[in-house]
Amino acid sequence: NMTAVILDGKQVAAEIRAETAKEVADFVAGGAPPPCLTAVLVGEDPASQVYVRNKARACEKAGIDGRTHRLPADAGQDELMALIAELNTDTNVNGILVQLPLPTTDAVRYDEREILDAIDPLKDVDAFSPVNVGLLMQGRPRFLPCTPHGIVQLLGRSNLSVAGKKVCVVGRSDIVGKPMAMMLAQKTGACGPEVANATVTLAHSRTADLASVCRDADCLIAAVGRPEMITADMIKPGAIVIDVGINRVGDKLVGDVAFDQAKEVASAITPVPGGVGPLTIAMLLHNTLAAAKLQSGR
Ligand code: NDP
Repeated sequence: NMTAVILDGKQVAAEIRAETAKEVADFVAGGAPPPCLTAVLVGEDPASQVYVRNKARACEKAGIDGRTHRLPADAGQDELMALIAELNTDTNVNGILVQLPLPTTDAVRYDEREILDAIDPLKDVDAFSPVNVGLLMQGRPRFLPCTPHGIVQLLGRSNLSVAGKKVCVVGRSDIVGKPMAMMLAQKTGACGPEVANATVTLAHSRTADLASVCRDADCLIAAVGRPEMITADMIKPGAIVIDVGINRVGDKLVGDVAFDQAKEVASAITPVPGGVGPLTIAMLLHNTLAAAKLQSGR
């Protein structure tokens, strides 16, 4: 029995943020205005407020102009759509991020799809718009979605590759599981050479015998949102385990993987917190700079 290597996402995220800060400084030294990311925060959900504040702080440290537009929970679809339209045409704004989930009140229900569809694809730093999802599927991504991209970076910078291996992604959300699976299925390295050409299984709540499906994988990526549901018996000895889950249990944050037992079986594993989480913001900064560069050329 060997204990797994702990993949330090915080450290890797700090590396990426330092690189981005340097590239931003070079971009600005070349005469461009600082890249600008505008977050749209609707309502007062405490978790969303924390996320938006963290993003703004990270922007500032990277030399990116991080702005936040606040709307009351009951602003309504039309007002939010009008704000998106305004941000789309504002040439000072390079990246637009709508913090999800949008609130639901007795009076107001937002159509999230319509909002995401309205964001200018060149400013869509989350890569949730249909055009950017399509480009990713075709293997010619403009922006990579931040959480899966963070996982690619974490693997690559830890000298781990899953190219050609069996990878099981558990969870098929549009923000994590599905794009992750698509990136792993690519024939070229356009979404990251360390994840290309994997043999991908995309598991979900209707997967029969999830345990054996997981146990077959050389790399297991859990993005479910169920505290510690992946137990040691579901992990192939020597597998790489990536835990995307962030679940609040009492006053503690835990992942989707039962970390203490899993680390005795896996060869490498991400902790929660300090694993995938910090990388998501790092890749958002990366995408904001990429967006500013794309727009400076148009
Ligand atoms: P969603 O709730 O959108 O999707 C969850 C997925 O898990 C669904 O596809 C669902 O299946 C599947 N699932 C649910 N229960 C089971 C089960 N018992 N067995 C197998 N599959 C199951 O989640 P997200 O992708 O948005 O987030 C997943 C987790 O990752 C959350 O804990 C979230 O907080 C965290 N997260 C972390 C980020 C980070 O930066 N580290 C970023 C984004 C999310 P079905 O489709 O059949 O319903």
